[in-house]
Amino acid sequence: MIQGLGVDAPEVRLGKDLEGLDGLVIPGGESTTIVQLLDIFDMRNTVVGLVQEGMPVWGTCAGMIVLADRLTDHRPEPLHLIDIEVSRNAFGSQVDSFEADLEVDGIDGTPFRAVFIRAPVVTTVGRGVNVLARLPDGRPVAVRENDMLATAFHPELTGDSRVHELFLNIVTGVKEPQPS
Ligand code: GLN
Repeated sequence: MIQGLGVDAPEVRLGKDLEGLDGLVIPGGESTTIVQLLDIFDMRNTVVGLVQEGMPVWGTCAGMIVLADRLTDHRPEPLHLIDIEVSRNAFGSQVDSFEADLEVDGIDGTPFRAVFIRAPVVTTVGRGVNVLARLPDGRPVAVRENDMLATAFHPELTGDSRVHELFLNIVTGVKEPQPS
């Protein structure tokens, strides 16, 4: 999706792949596996350091779990970056996957069709965190804290690139020279 928007998006598999990035996306998948690989390949401190120095980061689904400060589950050990508590598999198993039309703050036009696959939900939001989208029952499913974005759903699956554009705008905003 990001390449489709004309932006270079190399895959990050090893620590050396983190060099020179303007932003990082932690995708969906399985958060326990992602965290295990981050630790096996000794990338946890590098990722946390880069984000704390201001590199924009976006976690989708499992990626949201990885970025959270706290989980209702006892594993995995998240990166403690975004001040939220997250509950994994909050809607049940794979067969309980669903789609919903969401109003997302910062996205103009029609509601965003969001695909939830064994998705997490945000159970607690810290003071500095903005909720960008909620389910009809009020539960937060998209949040932003500074230049860190997290979505419980998979915005890459519908062909609608508006959440990707939102993240790229965060990245270019950070890159723009600050007035002195
Ligand atoms: N249930 C997965 C987890 O706990 C997330 C699923 C997904 O990324 N679609 O990590």
